[in-house]
Amino acid sequence: MTEHLDIDGSRGEGGGQILRTSLALSMLTGKSFAMRNIRANRAKPGLRRQHATAVDAAARLCDATVHGAKVDSRYIEFTPGTITGGDFLVDIGSAGSTTLVVQTLLVPAIASGKPLRATIRGGTHNPMAPPFEFLERVYLPQLRAMGADVSITLDQHGFVDSAGPLGQLTLDVRAGGALRPIELVNAGELVECRATAVLSRLPTHIGDRELAVVRERIAEPLSCTLSEVRGGGTANVLFIEIERTSSFELVTGFGERGLRAETVAERACDEAAAFLAANVPVGEHLADQLLLPLAVAGGGRFRCAPLSLHATTNIETIGLFLDLPIRVEPDGDAVLVTVG
Ligand code: AMP
Repeated sequence: MTEHLDIDGSRGEGGGQILRTSLALSMLTGKSFAMRNIRANRAKPGLRRQHATAVDAAARLCDATVHGAKVDSRYIEFTPGTITGGDFLVDIGSAGSTTLVVQTLLVPAIASGKPLRATIRGGTHNPMAPPFEFLERVYLPQLRAMGADVSITLDQHGFVDSAGPLGQLTLDVRAGGALRPIELVNAGELVECRATAVLSRLPTHIGDRELAVVRERIAEPLSCTLSEVRGGGTANVLFIEIERTSSFELVTGFGERGLRAETVAERACDEAAAFLAANVPVGEHLADQLLLPLAVAGGGRFRCAPLSLHATTNIETIGLFLDLPIRVEPDGDAVLVTVG
C-alpha cells in the first residue's frame, strides 16, 4: 500500500508554502496526503483562488485524485498519479500569484524528466510572493546550475491592483535528467548593483524619487533605470539587483496606495544593505525556495542569513516526505544549511 500522510497546515509559518511543498513532494514520492488547518496563520485562512488553482494544476500534472480543493476550504486530500508533463493553460481567474503556481509545478516537472509548458494567468508581481524577475534571475539560474533545462517568459505584467486583463507568464521545462547537488557558500566580490523602478500608469516622479533614495543609500558601482510598463492597473515595483562574482540577489519593494515612494525605496534599501553586509550568497527568499530542489537532488549546501520561518517550516515539511537529513549550523553571523 502507498504511504499516506496527515499534515497540519498550521505548523510553523502556517502559510501556502506548506501546501505547495507537500503537493510537489507528493507528486514526486507517490505518497498521498491529507492537510488540515490550511493557511491557518494567514489573515484569510484556507485556500484562496491561487492555492485552489495550484492544487488543480498539480492534479493535472500527475493525474491525481483530489477532494476539497475549493476556495475557502481548510482541508484537502491529494492522491497523486504519475507525472505526465504536457502543455496546459492555468487560469487563476484573479490577480493571485502565478509565480507561486510555478513554485508548485516546477521541481516535480524537472525531476520527472517529462517536458512541461504551462501558461499561467493571474498576478505576476504580488507582494508576499516572488516577482517574475526573482524567478527569472535568481531562482531559475540555480536550477540550471543543478542541471535543469528550464526557462520562463513574462507575457504580460499582472498587478494586484489590476483592472483589466490579468498578467501571464509561460514556464517551459524541457525533458531532462535528475537534479544535481550544488554548493553556494561564498558570495564573491561585488560587481554592480542595479536599481529599476517599474511603473504602470503612474507618474514618473514616483520612480525618480525612489531612485534618488537608492542613489543616496547604495554605494557605487550602481546603475539606475526607470521602466514604464503597461499592466492592467496602476502599480509600482522597485527592484535592487546585487550582482557579485559568485552570487546574484534581487530585492523587491512593492509600492502601495498611501505609502510614500521614499518609504518603498527605504525599505528595499534596508533589505539590500542587510544582504550586502551579511556577505552571503543566498538571501532570505532564495533560502526557503532552494530547499526543495536540493532535497530532491539528494544533497547540497548553502550559506544564508537569516534563516526565515518559511525556511525552517519548509525543512520540516520536506522531512515529512523524505528520509534525508537537513542540518542547520551557525557560521559566524550567518547560517550554513547542509542537505543530505
Ligand atoms: P507563503 O507565505 O507560505 O505563501 O510563501 C511565500 C513564498 O514567496 C516563499 O517562498 C517566499 O520566500 C516567497 N517570497 C515572498 N516575498 C518574496 C520576494 N520579495 N522575493 C522572492 N520571493 C518572495
